[in-house]
Amino acid sequence: MMQEAYRILESVFGYTAFRSPQDEVIGAILEGKDAFVLMPTGGGKSLCFQIPALVRPGVGIVISPLIALMQDQVSAMCQAGVKAACMNSSMPPGHNYEVENQARRGELDLIYIAPERLALNQTIEWLGQCDVSLFAIDEAHCVSQWGHDFRSDYLQLSLLHERFPNVPRVALTATADAKTREEIISRLGLEQASVFVSGFDRPNIQYRITQKQNARQQLLSFINSEHASDAGVVYCLSRKKVDATAKWLSEQGIKAYPYHAGLSKDVRYQNQARFLKEESIVIVATIAFGMGIDKPDVRFVAHLDLPKNIEAYYQETGRAGRDGLPSTAWMVYGLEDVIKLKQMMAGSEANEQFKRIEQRKLDSMLGLAEITSCRRQTIMNYFGDDMPEPCGNCDNCLNPAKTWDGTEAARKALSCVYRTDQRFGVVHLISVLRGKLTEKITQFNHQNVSTFGIGSDLSESQWRSVYRQLVARGYLSVNFDYGQVYLADKCRALLRGDETIELRLDADKGKQKTASSGKAKFTPVKDEDIDLWEALRACRKRLADDQGVPPFVIFHDATLKEMIESKPDGLQAFSTLSGVGQKKLDKYGSEFLLVLAEY
Ligand code: ADP
Ligand code: ZN
Repeated sequence: MMQEAYRILESVFGYTAFRSPQDEVIGAILEGKDAFVLMPTGGGKSLCFQIPALVRPGVGIVISPLIALMQDQVSAMCQAGVKAACMNSSMPPGHNYEVENQARRGELDLIYIAPERLALNQTIEWLGQCDVSLFAIDEAHCVSQWGHDFRSDYLQLSLLHERFPNVPRVALTATADAKTREEIISRLGLEQASVFVSGFDRPNIQYRITQKQNARQQLLSFINSEHASDAGVVYCLSRKKVDATAKWLSEQGIKAYPYHAGLSKDVRYQNQARFLKEESIVIVATIAFGMGIDKPDVRFVAHLDLPKNIEAYYQETGRAGRDGLPSTAWMVYGLEDVIKLKQMMAGSEANEQFKRIEQRKLDSMLGLAEITSCRRQTIMNYFGDDMPEPCGNCDNCLNPAKTWDGTEAARKALSCVYRTDQRFGVVHLISVLRGKLTEKITQFNHQNVSTFGIGSDLSESQWRSVYRQLVARGYLSVNFDYGQVYLADKCRALLRGDETIELRLDADKGKQKTASSGKAKFTPVKDEDIDLWEALRACRKRLADDQGVPPFVIFHDATLKEMIESKPDGLQAFSTLSGVGQKKLDKYGSEFLLVLAEY
């Protein structure tokens, strides 16, 4: 049966080899075993159930919460010649009925189905009348209450095992943490399943975290200089900021649309559909956008606000570069972010234990933002994957960060907090240090404290950098009410003079630009091939529009890139490109060969 799997890999999907551990997962399912698959986004989870569904007799049932994306997944399958369909509440009633009949007659290979349907008695009854080859539970972390995408409908899925004990099940997720993993296994009754966990690194994503100066302007120059004609996602914390940023980007000539839970369903749907269908487009969104965004060619993910933990950061940035081509995860952050998140945490009404966990997670996130060594090593380490060498593809590896001995400055900054009774925010503290006679200073007589004016040697932004790092590294705590800072236990040794501290040297305003820009310009192809690249993209877009499907459903960027590199001179050569199966060869081969011949 494995031979049949290889044949399908080539003839239907146009790939020459399985990525580990796809072949093992498929092997297990073909033997009738259950499987639990943990792979990073873009790792290639889909093939793990698509191929066994084609090899085994009967129809494969894929449970997916992503109704908005089902149609695209089905289109992609149909393009490759697979008999696929979907069933969900957004389909006309006649459609679902027709799918049911086709399945009973054994005319389908694969059905994508929404979890809420599976809970219905009538669905179970109908499945009993079909020959089912496997159940694939996609986004399986939705069954976990610990994770953040919990769906109560997923709880019903344990039923499948009871009703269809002989049909193999495969649960798939990209969510790494151990607790979620355990919960999935126990809730879905997968204790007997073979478990496949693959490494979590996404080497094609370049991680960069920069100090916030003028966030919008920084974002604009990042997009313009590195990703001008690409698709990307910009994450903000609040709906208001999403709207304002999308509007501002549009005014700057960037095709940008907002996405958040406050928009009407129609608008959200429209904007998401646009994002899937178009190539140079930016979605500005809250975290409401994204679960399983199945667009392979998202070239950048930008964060204007700091995520609450590394899990969220990794999941959000992971939406870039699913096709394996170079992509950028870019973030700006600053003192306000640190204060705001610490403040939110302090005011959270969750129970103490939960709060402590959240706090620790936030501290790791802040640590990642401040760290001067390889970001990827830090991330992998956080997830328990060992990475012996620095990655060479993050900002700290590309432009080693400078540090300075901040011991004296830190002591001044901390004493200033102490001398002013631990009741003030950073702006005021900096005024005191720099000896500025503001209204507030006179009001509280702070011109008379011993730290008044002792910090005129550093600029305001340098002091902000000092305070940011002291808060981020836990020397100072933040009060919930007004964001006042106060001394944390950890600062004692530093104040006593028993400890020194190295601080990250933040680039000055203006200089920072040269520090990051130009380094990582995304060039999918060589300069001389740009025209051909654009022509191929135009051809793909035309074919996609004719059928009302997203361009990547026709061919991925990686396939276009291969066309340019290997310049196939006929259908035979074309068929060897990665991503070209028999059906696509017949359907599109000659069109693309024509474009290639013109250049
Ligand atoms: P996931 O669901 O894990 O995020 P996908 O299944 O969408 O990932 O696959 C990510 C990308 O990798 C897709 O573009 C897919 O076509 C490609 N891919 C998957 N398996 C292979 C393979 N064996 N060879 C080449 N490309 C592959
Ligand atoms: Zn690195």
